[in-house]
Amino acid sequence: MTVLISFDQDWAPDYMMTPIIDDLIRCNLKSTWFVTNDSPAVQRMIDMPYLFEVGIHPNFLPDSTQGRDMSEIMNNLLSIVPNAKCVRTHRAYQHHTLLAIIADYGLEVDSSIYLGEMQHIRPFDVWYDDIHHLTRIPYFWSEESELHKPRPFFNPDWGGCGLKVLAFHPVHVFLNSCTFRGYRVLRRNGLNRTDELGARECIESWFGTRRFYEHALEIAANKTLLEIALEKKDS
Ligand SMILES: [Zn+2]
Repeated sequence: MTVLISFDQDWAPDYMMTPIIDDLIRCNLKSTWFVTNDSPAVQRMIDMPYLFEVGIHPNFLPDSTQGRDMSEIMNNLLSIVPNAKCVRTHRAYQHHTLLAIIADYGLEVDSSIYLGEMQHIRPFDVWYDDIHHLTRIPYFWSEESELHKPRPFFNPDWGGCGLKVLAFHPVHVFLNSCTFRGYRVLRRNGLNRTDELGARECIESWFGTRRFYEHALEIAANKTLLEIALEKKDS
């Protein structure tokens, strides 16, 4: 099995992202990030392409803060990450026409399909018209799904082979979420209106996302999603 680490920025403040970036540098571990907005932490990762594969995380849902339509959203995000090759849409929003447009913007790898803990996941190519195609790499696990289980993080069974892309959110790593309780308080107070000290009051202490993330750092392969896609093309 191959475990890959990915993150959806989801508008997390830099004080939530910076400790993760520091961990990844200290472990010399590659990861793939899907960014929603610009920040010094995002620029720091863009400046280290040998360690951080920075892709985009477009929000195509109504009332998106990234733009009024698909092209404005794509242009906005690609102005932050001009060389982005990887995409995961916010809330996994997708349809064929949208994916063709994403490919037309030069994106090559899409990770917007969630296959909850399914075995034997592998990358595959999809053609959307005669010229546009994407390599699709579904993700295997996300804490956002884990936290909805009756007993989150209890006795996970990850046997079997296949690609296991983990999709973390910096806010849940920061909060060590083992329920949505702390996150809901933070959302109510305003994620970007709360300073680090205030956010720390919402941290949960049981076995939660932070502990699982620390475990993931130990078992992850030192590869990005783009590297996995390129390996497939070479084989
Ligand atoms: Zn998202």
